[in-house]
Amino acid sequence: MGPRRAKIVCTLGPACATPEKIQALISAGMDVARLNFSHGSHEDHARAITMVREASERLRKAVAILGDLCGPKIRVGRLPAPREVCPGEALQLVAGDASDDATVPVRYPTLALDLREGDTIHLDDGRMRLRVTAIDPPVVRVTVEEGGDLRTGVGVHLPSGNLQLDALTDKDKQDLMFALTHGVDYIAVSFVRAPEDVKLVRDISEAWGRQLPVVAKIETPQAIEHLDAIVEASDAVMVARGDLGVEFPPEQVPVLQRRVLASAGLHRRPVIVATEMLHSMVSSTRPTRAEASDVATAIFEGADATMLSGETASGEHPTLAVSMMARIIAAAEHSPYYSPKGPPPSPPPIPFSEATARMAVMAARDTGARLIAAFTQGGDTARLLSRERPSVPVVAFSPSELIRRRLGLYWGVTSRVLQPLRETDEMVEAVQAQLLGNGWVAPGDRIVVVFGAPIAVKGRTNSVRIHQVR
Ligand code: PGA
Ligand code: MN
Repeated sequence: MGPRRAKIVCTLGPACATPEKIQALISAGMDVARLNFSHGSHEDHARAITMVREASERLRKAVAILGDLCGPKIRVGRLPAPREVCPGEALQLVAGDASDDATVPVRYPTLALDLREGDTIHLDDGRMRLRVTAIDPPVVRVTVEEGGDLRTGVGVHLPSGNLQLDALTDKDKQDLMFALTHGVDYIAVSFVRAPEDVKLVRDISEAWGRQLPVVAKIETPQAIEHLDAIVEASDAVMVARGDLGVEFPPEQVPVLQRRVLASAGLHRRPVIVATEMLHSMVSSTRPTRAEASDVATAIFEGADATMLSGETASGEHPTLAVSMMARIIAAAEHSPYYSPKGPPPSPPPIPFSEATARMAVMAARDTGARLIAAFTQGGDTARLLSRERPSVPVVAFSPSELIRRRLGLYWGVTSRVLQPLRETDEMVEAVQAQLLGNGWVAPGDRIVVVFGAPIAVKGRTNSVRIHQVR
C-alpha cells in the first residue's frame, strides 16, 4: 500500500517533454499532471496528454490531467526593448499593445477609467511597484516606487476592486474547448472573483456534453471575500500563492492558506497548495530548509495535494523535485505530529452519502480495519471518505477509468478497476479477491466496505459492511 496520503500535482513543460521524463515523474510520485495554458501551444499540450496517458497505462497508475486556464491576467504590451526602471522615475502608461519610448503599453482597454490617483500597481509578480500620480486620459502617470527590469509581457496587477474584466478571455474559451475535446480530467480557473465564474465554466462544459470538475484558484481579494460561496460552487480549490502574494502582503499568505484549507474542509472539497513550494530546486538539487518546512506545514495543516510549478515545468531537476516532495510528505505523515482530522458534521439532516462515509470511518477505527473499500460510481463516495481523513487507506473501486483518474487528486485514496456486480455478497467477494491478490490484506484482516444498495446506482451510497477477510 502506498505510504503517502497527500497527493502531488506537477506542472508539465519543456523540462519534462519526453515519454521517459513523464514516466520518471509518475514513478517519482506525480498523481496529477497540470497543463498550464499560460505557456505552450495546443500542439505541445496535446503531445503532453498523449505521453501522460501512455506512461500511466504502462505503469498502471491512474494519473489525472488538470488543464489550467490563464484567466484575465493583464500584461505589459510590446516594448521596443527591455528597460530598467528606477525608484523615483516618472512613467506614462497607456492602454494598448504597442507604443513608443515615452510610454508603457498595458493590455487593458479601460486602464485610464479604472484607476484612481494614489492607486498602487504591481508589475512582474510584485517585483516592481508603481504609484498613480495623475490620470490624464488616455495617459496614466505613475512614479516608480520599486524598480526593476521592464519587459514585454510581464504581468500587471491593478487594484482589482474596480476592474471590468470578463472571467474568461477568448483564449480561455479556446483552451477550455481544447481541454474538453482532449479528455482533460479537471479544469482550473484563474483569478476567480465570484461563484458565477466557476458556474460559467461548468455551464460551458455541460453545454459541450461533459461534466468537467472545476478547480477554483483562490488568488484575488474578491475570491477571499466570497470564499465560502466559491468553494461550494467548485469541485476543488487551489491556494494559488503566486498571485495571492501579490494581491496581499506576504505575511497574509500563510494566514489565508489556513483560511482556504478550513473552508474547503467544511465543504468537503479537496485543496491544492501551490507555488514556490520547492522553488530553489528549479536550479538546485536540494530544497532549502524553509521549503521543506513549507511542504510539511501544508501537510500538517491538512492539504490534499501540494503542487510543483517551475520546478517540474522548466527546472533542471524535475524528477528530483517530485521525489523530494514525496519524501517530505511521507516523513510528515509518518511522524507522531500528524493527526489529520475530519471536519465537524454538517448541520443535520445530512445527506445519506455523508452519513455513510462518517459511519464507515468510525467502523474502521473501532474494528481495527486494515482499509476502507468503497464502490464509487461518480467519485463522490471516495471524496466524502477522503474528507473524513480516515486513519486507514481508502481503496476506491470503479468501472470507469475517467472516475479513477479523478480520484488521483483525493487524499488517501487509491483506485482499482471493478465491474459493477448485482449482489452485495458477490461484490464483497470480488473486492476481497482483488485486495488479497494485491497483498493489501491477509486472511483474518478486517475491512470496511462502503456501497449503495441497490448496487451501482449513482448517488445512492447508503451501506457499510464490516467484513473479515477469508
Ligand atoms: P499561476 O497560478 O501559476 O497560473 O499563476 C498559481 C499561482 O498564482 O500561485
Ligand atoms: Mn496565478
